[in-house]
Amino acid sequence: MIYVLIFNRMENFAPPCSSDATLKGKFDNIGWEYGDLVDPGKSQRVKCKSCKRVLSGVVFRLKQHIARIKGNVISCDRSTPINQVKCKRALEEVRNMKENKRKTLEESWE
Ligand SMILES: [Zn+2]
Repeated sequence: MIYVLIFNRMENFAPPCSSDATLKGKFDNIGWEYGDLVDPGKSQRVKCKSCKRVLSGVVFRLKQHIARIKGNVISCDRSTPINQVKCKRALEEVRNMKENKRKTLEESWE
C-alpha cells in the first residue's frame, strides 16, 4: 500500500518527458540503448556503443547494424546475440506498425 503511494508520487513529480528523449525522438527509444548521437542538433550520425563505429543515418540504421541485417549498413561485429535479437524484434515491430497503418488507411478509402 505504502509502496503504491510512493510510486504515484514519483510519477507526479517526474517531468512528462526529458529534453533528452525529445531530442532523440521519444517514439524510437530502443535503439538508443546501443548508440549515441554524435552531433546533437544535427542528429543524422550515431555512434555504436559496442564497436564505436559512427553510422550516418538515424536510429533505424543503428538497429540494423546491431541486428546484423545486411544491405543498408555495415554489420556490428561486437553486438551480443541478445542485442541482435532485441534489435531484430524492434525492427519487425516498426514494420508491423507501418503495415497496420497502411491497412487502416486503405480501409478508410473504401
Ligand atoms: Zn557496432
